[in-house]
Amino acid sequence: MDTTHSQPPHPTTAALSTLPADASTEGLSAWADIDLEAIRDNVAALGRRAGDAEVMAVVKGDAYGHGLLPVARAALAGGASYLAIAQLGEALAARAGGLTAPVLTWLFPPGADLATAIRSDITLTAAAPWALAEIAAAAREVGTTATIHIKADTGLGRGGSWGEDLSGMFRDAARLEADGVIDVEGIFSHFARADEPGDPSIRAQQEVFEAALAEAERAGLRPRLRHLANSAATLTNPSATYDMIRPGVSVYGLSPVPDVGGPTHFGLREAMRVTARLINVKDCPPGQGISYGHRYTTTEQTRLGLVPLGYADGIPRHASSVGPAQVGGRRYTVAGRVCMDQFVLDLGADSPAAVGDPVTLIGQEAKGEPTAQDWAAAIDTINYEIVTRLGSRVPRRYLGGL
Ligand SMILES: *Cc1c(COP(=O)(O)O)cnc(C)c1O
Repeated sequence: MDTTHSQPPHPTTAALSTLPADASTEGLSAWADIDLEAIRDNVAALGRRAGDAEVMAVVKGDAYGHGLLPVARAALAGGASYLAIAQLGEALAARAGGLTAPVLTWLFPPGADLATAIRSDITLTAAAPWALAEIAAAAREVGTTATIHIKADTGLGRGGSWGEDLSGMFRDAARLEADGVIDVEGIFSHFARADEPGDPSIRAQQEVFEAALAEAERAGLRPRLRHLANSAATLTNPSATYDMIRPGVSVYGLSPVPDVGGPTHFGLREAMRVTARLINVKDCPPGQGISYGHRYTTTEQTRLGLVPLGYADGIPRHASSVGPAQVGGRRYTVAGRVCMDQFVLDLGADSPAAVGDPVTLIGQEAKGEPTAQDWAAAIDTINYEIVTRLGSRVPRRYLGGL
């Protein structure tokens, strides 16, 4: 296999600008504080739920927007023994950034540079027969044994293999393992509806998973790491723990099942705080349309505050007139349309707010502040999307000294 031609360069980790922990926020439009102790403590708390099982912390999507390398360090400090990074390019960038812990990756296209991945000690997922074949070819080319996890589709209907494809992979993998080409360290699968505790598909997927494990064993495979549980399963379904849990969103202190309970309920703490600064405060008469399209109109004499963040920063335009914010201990809702770089708050006539005052956009449930979950509920999405889409223009400041 020729992997040398026309390979794109590996992307570096997303260009998040970072601030030293002791940096002043003076002069910044907005910033995100990432509490690395919260990450560490959340991983430790999840690990306690998993008993003797290992923890693979999922740090895909630049650690759900929190920043991959610092989060990875904090997760390892909390007891994670493995990290999961969905896309191979991001995993390679993490290695280039100095991350040495075990890393599993599960998304790469045919023709990807698997030889470099193997040389970089990245555990590759065989999610389809073609992927197993390409991994084996790359391992032979490099002249080492590739560590792999096989991914079964037990009913999610997304990645992984099922049926004869999966059976064939088990047989081929056993042969390749006997030849020293690969080491099948793990077998895993992913739930469709773990965030709906009690849904019959959960039990059904576990039964299919256990049947697949039994079949793999009959084929001669002895994977050390059998894993299925995402955050929702980790928090609501201990029977899905197996050898390793694979939590993502809960590592960041967000609940995957907000209807069951928020972070406090599960002993977790939100790691991301997003603060902006008012850059304009002015008196405004009643009857004034606000922002593009005048979708909001003031009803009385009031004061307007301008927040210098917009959809280019990941503030959803769908949050127009519904997104939450807090200024000086008072709760507000976005007034009118979110623009590319800014939006407006109607602060009220008696507001003491002044230019430069901090605006909390994402804070902590336990403190009664707006949360990523509040933003998600306001626009009918999930908290995952709110934190992951926070843009690279918002510098991250890592607190906690990890
Ligand atoms: C994203 C992902 C996870 C983590 O899911 P959370 O709901 O964030 O805990 C685990 N496994 C796979 C395969 C994933 O894609």
